[in-house]
This record gives sequence, structure tokens and C-alpha cells, in this order.
Amino acid sequence: MLGINTVIAFSLCYVAFLFFVAFWAERRAKRGNATWLHSPLIYTLSLSIYCTAWTFYGAVGYAARSGLEFVTIYLGPTLMMIGWWWILRKLVRIGRAQRITSIADLVSSRFGKSTSLGVIVTVISVVAATPYIALQLQSVTLSFAVFAQSGGQLWQDADLNATATWVAVGLFVFTVIFGTRNLDANERHHGIVIAIAVEAVVKLIALLAVGVFVVWGIAGGPAEMMQRIDNSQIVLWDQDGGRWISLIFLSGAALLCLPRMFQVLVVENADERHLAIASWAFPTYLFLMSLFVVPIAVVGLDLLPVGSNPDLFVLTVPLQEGKQGLAMLSFLGGFSSATSMVMVATIALATMVSNHIVVPVWLSLRPSQQAVISGDIRHVILLARRLSIAGVLFLGLVYYRLSGGGTALAAIGLVSFSGAVQILPAMLGGVFWRGATRLGAATGLLIGLTVWLWTLFLPSFGDAALIGQTVLDQGPFGMAWARPQALFGIVGLDPLVHGLLWSMLLNTAGFIIVSLVTFPTPLERLQGAQFVNVFEHSAAAPAWTTAAAGAEDLLIMAQRIMGSEQAQAIFEREAVRQGKKGFLPEVTPSFVELLERDLAGSVGAATAHAMVGQLIGGSGVSVEDLIAVADEAAQILEYSSRLEAKSAEQEQTARALREANDKLTALSIQKDAFLSQISHELRTPMTSIRSFSDILRDGEIGLAEQKRYSGIIHDEAIRLTGLLDDLLDLSVLENGQVMLHVKTGNLGQLLERAIGAAGGLGDAFEIRSAPDLGDMRVTTDLDRLVQVFINLIANARKYCDAQTPCLRISCADHGDSYLIDFIDNGSGIAPENQQLIFEKFSRVADGSKAGGAGLGLAICREIMRRLGGDIAYLNGQYGTAFRVTLPKEKPADC
Ligand code: ADP
Repeated sequence: MLGINTVIAFSLCYVAFLFFVAFWAERRAKRGNATWLHSPLIYTLSLSIYCTAWTFYGAVGYAARSGLEFVTIYLGPTLMMIGWWWILRKLVRIGRAQRITSIADLVSSRFGKSTSLGVIVTVISVVAATPYIALQLQSVTLSFAVFAQSGGQLWQDADLNATATWVAVGLFVFTVIFGTRNLDANERHHGIVIAIAVEAVVKLIALLAVGVFVVWGIAGGPAEMMQRIDNSQIVLWDQDGGRWISLIFLSGAALLCLPRMFQVLVVENADERHLAIASWAFPTYLFLMSLFVVPIAVVGLDLLPVGSNPDLFVLTVPLQEGKQGLAMLSFLGGFSSATSMVMVATIALATMVSNHIVVPVWLSLRPSQQAVISGDIRHVILLARRLSIAGVLFLGLVYYRLSGGGTALAAIGLVSFSGAVQILPAMLGGVFWRGATRLGAATGLLIGLTVWLWTLFLPSFGDAALIGQTVLDQGPFGMAWARPQALFGIVGLDPLVHGLLWSMLLNTAGFIIVSLVTFPTPLERLQGAQFVNVFEHSAAAPAWTTAAAGAEDLLIMAQRIMGSEQAQAIFEREAVRQGKKGFLPEVTPSFVELLERDLAGSVGAATAHAMVGQLIGGSGVSVEDLIAVADEAAQILEYSSRLEAKSAEQEQTARALREANDKLTALSIQKDAFLSQISHELRTPMTSIRSFSDILRDGEIGLAEQKRYSGIIHDEAIRLTGLLDDLLDLSVLENGQVMLHVKTGNLGQLLERAIGAAGGLGDAFEIRSAPDLGDMRVTTDLDRLVQVFINLIANARKYCDAQTPCLRISCADHGDSYLIDFIDNGSGIAPENQQLIFEKFSRVADGSKAGGAGLGLAICREIMRRLGGDIAYLNGQYGTAFRVTLPKEKPADC
């Protein structure tokens, strides 16, 4: 006979073995050679925590009580894994991209990192998981009691309670050791994962062994077994369609929503591709787990006395048959199922409780934010985790004591599932619907939680434990519509179907309606876009990203936004200021503030705040995603600056066009003026030539007059020719068609030639030139130069209005060129006319007096420009002054 002490010794050895395996796995993982830990097989096995003691013991009890309905518990997850694994894939991708640590984190991050949503989901999860943890404690305790009984002891309630407490303490120690050893940003636990993989194998082997024993050892083969099943009462059970559909939905949804399933499916997932394998491997595992449920139930009902607990058939049938070893294996299978579930569930819940409740409260009690950056928060978080694990286990123990440990396992499990799936609308809505808002999610969750508590959770404590029979029958305060099992007067439904239907219906309706009428905050929008379009933003990287952002991450982000040079300059300056070597400074609050300000210049204050806040905040949005956002912003900035450049370019073209147009208009006006001017200039001499020639033709005048008139005609004809010569000359010069004959000459001699040509020195007219003109040699078109000089001297002679006119010519050597000034002592030219006189036909003085057509200076300017020099009016002299600038050697390109 196996005594209780042997069983305890066995279980301790088993736990020690698990310890060893877990330690070994953690060691390998730490050394970095644990690729096998990330295999699809381990991943699939770790999913088996779906099969808890409820499935191990409870499924047989379920089948014995309600026939084939237990199959729904396996069908739901199977359909989910095979048909809807793309939902899981999206969750896994979001989990990786957003560095999600729990289901509460997922919902809270999606809706703008809302603290209140995190708290609500945590509370729902803890409350929903509590009965389930109680269930595991209960099943382990009962299985111990079975051995005690078979050893001749009959356990009282006190013994059961003490055992449950010790089991809880043992689980606490194991979980704390492997679940909170380190504080990974990614929350993965290699030791625990490998331990639950081993337990998955143990429980499968145990159940298959008992099944094989029952079919071949007791019934005598499959055919006989089928016979027995046909004869048993199990096949007689009526199957309720509503319950089947509800239960399939419930268990499928629970696969997504149970915190422990989320932990292994999403958080502990090492590679997205594992999902593809798990999508058929896990249903296979479930199939094997359910294969022998009906045979064990049928044989148990046949063999064991009426009134034996069918939840323990897996254990009691081998014991009844004297198979001690098999019973021991079966016990270890049940023990494995219970412990693996409790460990993962408490880790998942503790992460949520500490991240969403304990740490925020602790932080709000701290006077400054200094601690958050300095790093001592790690200890606080670890302590919070450990306390949370203890708290969750304690709650389970309390529920176990309160519910009396008597309720059927399956019933408790279903109530627990219904609580957890209240998260489904907010979770799926958040992942697939961009319009979902924080308020909508909170409304749905709170309604769901309330309805579930009222219709399922409170009544689950059993006969009038928390809700009196009168309330159940007549509603609270006589409000019949609020009866927990007949809400709004709907009677006759199965309590589970009823509670599930109402809670999900009202929850989803609340979520959708409130989402439609409220507006998301900017951060919610950003997160919503990241979640819904996760496949566009993130790559399927095989590994998780690093821990909270450091200076380097900030630098990468800053570079994306403001360009690498500017970003590096800011970081380097800060590093120098902090007295650090290299270019990466410490990420201090003041630096973050400074960086945020600088970034705000590029992307706007709100976005910069959100981005830096998220990066410094650590969890939530991954660095890759921030960089993706930064890239987008940079692209937009680049695009808009390109647009700006384009529009500036266009503006410039438009301006150039406008200027050209103005010039053309001015030219056209000038052309008109020139034509009218020229016709006027030509007409004057032509008119006098015509009229005098008319007189001469008539021949009625004397000889003296004839002579005089023909003299006038001759003079006018000369003037006309001169004018036409000038015009021709100017047009040749302006068109650049002029041929220059470059020779070398002496400036003094050239001036003398010009003076001579201009009519020499008049009586009262004096020309003074600098004495040393003799050495000044010049290489240019000498004739053209002399033409300019003649013009200037003739002008002075014509226009100088001084009493005793005098022209002073001076030359100065100015490096490469000579400056030749012609200064007379006339009354000068008014400033507004100083530019004008160089234009064609411009005359300031009374033209008729001197007879010039106003082309002289225009020709001078053209000539001087051809020779590579210039001519300009010289200001500030007593009299009219012109300066000729002449290069000593005519440049070749003129
Ligand atoms: P024009 O054929 O009339 O001499 P220019 O182009 O040589 O034409 O001169 C333009 C005008 O500049 C003259 O009409 C005259 O009014 C003014 N001007 C030129 N030189 C002098 C000067 N030395 N003193 C005063 N006015 C001058």
C-alpha cells in the first residue's frame, strides 16, 4: 500500500527534479546556448498549461456527470488554433513590437497607456483566476486525501485545509524562485517554461497510461470498451445546443484571454513561426488528452461504488485495481497539471498586479522622479512581484476555504473562464478597430465585470453563501428584472449560458457605443494605428528588443528626426557638459527635457513629448516602432521641405519672368521713344534742306541769297550725315559687330591728337594735362580711344558755361589701368541727370544751342566698354567732370 508519506516523498522528489531541470535551463539560457529552449516543441508543450487539473481530473468528472459536453472545452481552443491562428499571430506580433508584458499591458497600451484600463483588466483577471487557482489547490489536496484514505486515514476538513496551505506555500516558493529571479524587460522565464514543458509530457503520459490500462487492462480491448460505453449512462445524456455553442465560444475565447495563456502564447513566444507548428501540434496534444476521458469515466462509474467523486476517477480507478505505480504516475500527472497552471497564472497575474497597481501607487507616493531613472526601482518591482504572487495564491486559498472545496471542478472552471473572456471585446476591438476608444473599452469592461460578478461569480460560492436564495428567486430589493439567473425577465436559460450571453452582449454593446461617441486622444490614435497596422510597422524579428531605452536609442530616434549631424552635436555637447568620455551622455531628466524641446522643433511639442516619454518610459512602444514613426515624420518633413524648395524655385522663376517682362515693356517703350526721337532728329535738318532747296528751285532770289541758302543746305546735309554716322556707329557698337584694331600708343600723344582734332585750344579755353603723360603706354584701339577723348573735349568746349572756360585733363596710374579725368569749370550736371546723359538722345542743356543729338556720350560709353574700361560722371568736382577708366592692355575677352 502506498502511504501518504510515500506520496509526499514522491512529490517532493518530483519537485526537486523540476527544480533541477529549471535551474539547468536557466543556466543554459544565461550562457546564451539555449536555442533548443526556443523550439516549436517546447512552445507547444508550454501551451499545455491550458490543460490544468480541471482537464486532467475534471474532464473525466465532467463526462461522468454530463456526457460528451466536456469535448467543448477541447473544441474551442482547437478551432481557435486551426481556424483563427491569424488572430494569435497578430497578438504575438503586437506583443513583440510593443514589448507587451501581460494582457492588461496590451489593453492599457492600446488605449493610450491608460492606467485605469490596466487596473480594470488586472482586477478582472485576478478575480476570474482566483476560483481557478482554488480549483488547482483543491484537486491536489483531494488527490493527497485519496492516498491518505487508501492508507487507512480519513482526512477531516482541517487536514485538507492544512494540505492546501502547504501546497500553496510550496508553489509560492517555486514560483518566486523561477518567476522573479530576474527582471527581464521581456518577462520571459526559461526555467519555468522548461519545467512546464516537462510537466506537460508527464501529464500526457500519465493520462494515456491510465487510459491504456482502462481500455486494455480492465475492459479487455477497444471493442469491449465500446460495448461498455454503449451500455453506460453517459450516452444517455441530453446535449443542449445552446450550452455547446456557448462552451465552444467560451473555451476558444479563453485561450486568448486567460492571463496564463496570454503569458505562454504571446509573452514567452520566441518566434512567430512557432505558432504555425503549434496550430496543429497543440490540437493534437488536446486530442490525445481527451482520447481516454470517456473510457475512464465509464469504467470508473462501473467499478467504483455509487457516490464516489468522479473528478478523481483518474486516480481512484488504478488504486481500486491495486495498480500502485500507475496511481502514483496519475497522481504526478494531476500534480503537474495543477502546479504548472498555478505557477504561470501567478506569474502572469503578479506581473499585472505589480505593473499596474503596486508600482504606480509606489511611484505616486515618491516625492521625486529621481528614483525612476537611478535604477533602484528594480528592487521595488521584484518585491512587488513576490508580494503579488503571495497575494494571488492567498486569494485562491481564501476562495477554496469559502467555497468549501465541494463544488464540482468543471463548474468552477467555467465560471472562471466566463470572467476572463470579458476582456475579449476590448482586446479584439483594440487590435482590429482603430475607432475603439479608451472610454469605450473601460465601459465595456466594467459592464462585463459587473454582470459577470452578479450572474456567475457570486452565485458560484454555492447555496446562499454570498447571495441569499430570496435574491436568486425574487431579485435584489424585490427587483425581479435583476435576478442573477434571470436578468431582464429571461428565464429558463442555463445559468452559465445566461450569464455569458448577457455579460458579453452588454459588454460588447457598451464598448462599441461609447467608442463611437467619444474621441481618442493623440496618444490613443498613435497606439491604435500601431496596433491595428502592426504588420506594416514591424518586422518579424526573431528576438525581442532590448530593455528600456538608453542614450543610444534616443540618439537613433533624434537622428531620424533632426538629421545625424545636429543630433550628434546635441548629444556630444551634453556628454562634454556631463564630463563623460565619448559622445553618449547619461540620460538625465534635464537632458531629456532639452532633447524634447529640440525635437519639438521638428515634429511639434505633442509628438515629441509622446515619443520621448514612451522611449524613456520603457515598456509599451518599442524602439523600432518609435523609429518607424520618426521615419514617417522625417519623410513628411522632407516632403514638405521639398515642396517648399519647389515653390521657392517657382517663385524665383515667376520673379525672373516678371523682370523679363518689365524689361521687355521698358525696351518697347524705349524703342518707341527712340523711333520718335530719331524721326524728329532726322526731320529737322530734312525740313530745312527741303524748304531751302524749294526756294532755290523757284530761282527768284539773288545770288548772295542763293549762296547763303545752299550753304545752309550743305551744313544741314553734313549734320544729317554726321547724325546717321553716329547712329550707325552706335548700332555697330551695341551689336558687338565692331572691329577693333589694337595697337600700342602713348597716352600723351593720343590726348594731343584729340585736342587737335577737337579744334585745338580756343581763345578763352585752356586744356591742362598732367606733365608726365609721356611714359604712359597703352595697348588698345587707339582710334576709338581718341574718338572718346575728342567727344569729351568737344562737349566741354560746347557746354562749359564759365566766364573763362577751362578744361583740366589729368591722368593717374592705377595698377592695371589708367584713370583719365576731364574736368571743366562749368556749372556741372544735376545729380538726377548724371546717369541720363549717357542714354541715347539725352540732352540736358538746350540742344538747339549747341546742336548735338545726344548720342556722343552714349557712343563713348559703348566704346569704353568694348575696350574693357568705362566712363562715368565724376562727382564732387567744381564743374562738369568725367572719368575714363582704361585698362593698360585691352583684355582679350572684350
Ligand atoms: P550731344 O550730342 O548733345 O553733345 P552728348 O551725349 O555728348 O550729346 O551729351 C549729352 C548732354 O550732356 C549734352 O546735351 C549736355 O547737356 C551734357 N553735357 C555733356 N558734356 C557736358 C559738359 N562738359 N558740360 C555741361 N554739360 C555737358
